[in-house]
Amino acid sequence: SGSFKASSAGCDRANAGRGPPEPRFFMKTIYLASGNAHKLHELQAALEDAGLPIRVRGPGEIGGMPEVEETGSTFKANALLKAEGLSSVGPRDGWFLADDSGIEIDALGGRPGVISARYAGTDCDDEANNDKVLEEMREVPKERRACRFRCVLALVGDGLEETFSGSCGGLLLEERRGTGGFGYDPLFLPDESESTFAEISLEEKARISHRARALVKLVDWLGKEVA
Ligand code: IMP
Repeated sequence: SGSFKASSAGCDRANAGRGPPEPRFFMKTIYLASGNAHKLHELQAALEDAGLPIRVRGPGEIGGMPEVEETGSTFKANALLKAEGLSSVGPRDGWFLADDSGIEIDALGGRPGVISARYAGTDCDDEANNDKVLEEMREVPKERRACRFRCVLALVGDGLEETFSGSCGGLLLEERRGTGGFGYDPLFLPDESESTFAEISLEEKARISHRARALVKLVDWLGKEVA
């Protein structure tokens, strides 16, 4: 993956004293390959907390998210496909961020993995996915029920391609517990807690989740690049 200095895109230091004065800072825009307002606010808040002069925009600002087929066999490949898809309709100096996530269950050889969202079929819902996993894991004893959520964030732009991954390990329960969250949350007992992802508070999930961990890495990287 390449490296890229944000500051060099905004102002040419070698040119100082010739041309117009350098801007005090360069406001970069990250376009998020997701229409999910919660994800947008989550990223914006993390960037603001880190004091980074970066604004976040949804795909609506640049004509909408183009159709992207998630044909990759890894979270990283699919996150890159989505980020590149959005970059193809966005401005040349923009940055484009996409995520891909899912759950890997060791006893199922890593499945559902990249097909987590559609494990029980293309038009299936969370309940059907959870039922399918429970059925496939019916005979599997506790000591072989290890699993983890994974998330990869891909950031692409002109001359830039970086990925950041986070994971959260735990156990796949034998039945649902809790009513919060989404997806496989009621079946997932994280190593760090006595409560499932469907029982813990949003704050705790935001501390230990695969997404949160990938986001921390992204923000750290941006902090070093956008100085
Ligand atoms: P994506 O939107 O293509 O990244 O698909 C992610 C899918 O993985 C979701 O539809 C869920 O089934 C599952 N998933 C990812 N993160 C979580 C989580 O934090 N809790 C529960 N399920 C998740």
